[in-house]
Amino acid sequence: MLIDSHCHLNYRGLIEDQQNVLERARAAGIDLMLNIATRESEWDAVLATAEQQPDVYATVGIHPHEADEHPHIDTAKLIERAAHPRVVGIGETGLDYYYDHSDRARQQGSFRAHIAASRATGLPLIVHTRDAEEDTLAILREEMGQGTYPGVIHCFTASGAFADAALDLGFYISISGIVTFKSAKDLQETAARLPLDRLLVETDSPFLAPVPHRGKPCEPAFVADTARFLANLRGQSVEELASATSANFRTLFRKTGFSKSGAAPSA
Ligand SMILES: [Zn+2]
Ligand SMILES: [Zn+2]
Repeated sequence: MLIDSHCHLNYRGLIEDQQNVLERARAAGIDLMLNIATRESEWDAVLATAEQQPDVYATVGIHPHEADEHPHIDTAKLIERAAHPRVVGIGETGLDYYYDHSDRARQQGSFRAHIAASRATGLPLIVHTRDAEEDTLAILREEMGQGTYPGVIHCFTASGAFADAALDLGFYISISGIVTFKSAKDLQETAARLPLDRLLVETDSPFLAPVPHRGKPCEPAFVADTARFLANLRGQSVEELASATSANFRTLFRKTGFSKSGAAPSA
């Protein structure tokens, strides 16, 4: 059994064939998927999928690429939507200085608004960071000083030093199909030594199909290929890696244990 901790089931590439995508994931032994929001206009659809599918949960958030388009999204709005019983996380949020699709100051403001929502709700923060290690860490640290909050660095591709700093802050680290790429030597080195009790796996589908599916649209079923590669890299059995990453997911996203009944987790 495996959990895909980060996918975009309502994106083009998956939405057209969503029911079959879900069936193939179930056939591959994926027993939970976290459907990640990136813009306000898709929140309703992302939530609706989680309402309809018992093995899909949702998040609310604004991707750093979209920060410029969402100047009106604040902590209060995030908290309000996060009350939905199927919303178990806040994000994805963070900083992306590689594409710079949004103004950096706006990305930072949006990031801090999401952190405040995570702190207020107790729901984990899903952090996207690319070419922005220094600012990401500075903000995570500074905000942690105002009151703790849980979270995960998703689709981890940063340095080993960044991983260590994130672990020190109590964060989990989620490994995507990028780890299977031949060129990802540094990432493989870091992924091999991450503590098993802080590790998650994800597809970030429809992006980043792992080996041997490169060139195809990625889908949650492929998290099994990433898990197999990662287990091999770490000298563990797939079963051990699968059961540890699933247990970690349920520890971090603890609202998944409550939200079938719609009851809120106790703080
Ligand atoms: Zn991302
Ligand atoms: Zn994503």
